[in-house]
Amino acid sequence: MENETLRTSIIPIFIPHIGCPYRCVFCNQWRITGHAGIPDASEVRHLIHTYTQGVGKRHWEAAFYGGSFTAIPASLQESLLEPAYEALQAGRIDAIRCSTRPDCITGPILRRLQRYGMTTVELGVQSMDDNVLERARRGHTAAQVIEATALLRQYGFTVGHQLMPGLPGEDWTSLSHTTDAICRLKPDITRIYPVAVIAGTELAESWQKGEYQALTIHEGVRRAAYMKQCFLSHGIQVIRTGLQATENLDDPSQVLAGAYTPAMGEMVDTRRYQLQLFAALDRILSGCQSGDVVISYHRRDTSRVRGIRNVTVHRSRLRYGREFLWNEDDAVPMHHIRVTARTGTWLIDTDRNQIFPDLPDADR
Ligand code: SF4
Repeated sequence: MENETLRTSIIPIFIPHIGCPYRCVFCNQWRITGHAGIPDASEVRHLIHTYTQGVGKRHWEAAFYGGSFTAIPASLQESLLEPAYEALQAGRIDAIRCSTRPDCITGPILRRLQRYGMTTVELGVQSMDDNVLERARRGHTAAQVIEATALLRQYGFTVGHQLMPGLPGEDWTSLSHTTDAICRLKPDITRIYPVAVIAGTELAESWQKGEYQALTIHEGVRRAAYMKQCFLSHGIQVIRTGLQATENLDDPSQVLAGAYTPAMGEMVDTRRYQLQLFAALDRILSGCQSGDVVISYHRRDTSRVRGIRNVTVHRSRLRYGREFLWNEDDAVPMHHIRVTARTGTWLIDTDRNQIFPDLPDADR
């Protein structure tokens, strides 16, 4: 179908810890990705072939993840990029991306990436608080994030930022400082990974000694929801919240504590939508308690509006002591909630966190 947006599918090429000059306290890519060793060019070629063969048309992106791609020796970068670039030129894939560190971005590095057709670079930012970065042994500063972001922009890359709420030394002041700084930098895309304590890391040792207090899932959801809402309100896309579930991560001997749950994304959206819906209902019902109240939403927003396992429906009963009418209606734009009461109709824009009267077309 000509006008249908093609689904983006990632071909993950894991380079676990390759290029990392330090080991960050929270990180164990062998456990997170379930991969070890360095791939070579033939493996990259084989992987791309395996993913793309016999599958209908999609927007394929080859992604070098799990290490510090731009910090690995130039000859190895080039040998890994070569097969991806061949596939790009042959039209078998549509884009190439990588993740790397903010202190490993220079003009010559970016020119090399461009020669091989790379268009997106995701920076492991984690925090914009230098104290938190130091305690995480990141080996870079917030100022280097600002410089790297500016240089990537200058070279025309799509810029991604990866953030980790819940690192040692972070409190709500620090979290809100990081969030504001990212909103000012306005990356094109973000990923939010509340901290999980992974076996075999320095963080796991600190947690076992009682020196680090891990996030609860509830606190991880609160912090990630706060960040996500601020980013969306500033027009910054959030493409992932919470680590992707893998067999390793679902094994309790690998994830010892912290805010890991395969449902993190749904829980974060449940919280964001619930806070906005209840704020709107508080206002609307303070004027008039009588009559039906209809809550309408696009079919594809159903689980966000009703909440994971209908938690928002249940909580609304407890909070307001009444039943609402919950109604799927595809005329409501995605990421909006329409509330209709006896006294009027309101539309909540959940990305912008704004509510306004929903006027009939003639009155707009
Ligand atoms: S967080 Fe990034 S830079 Fe740090 S050890 Fe892990 S892969 Fe390397």
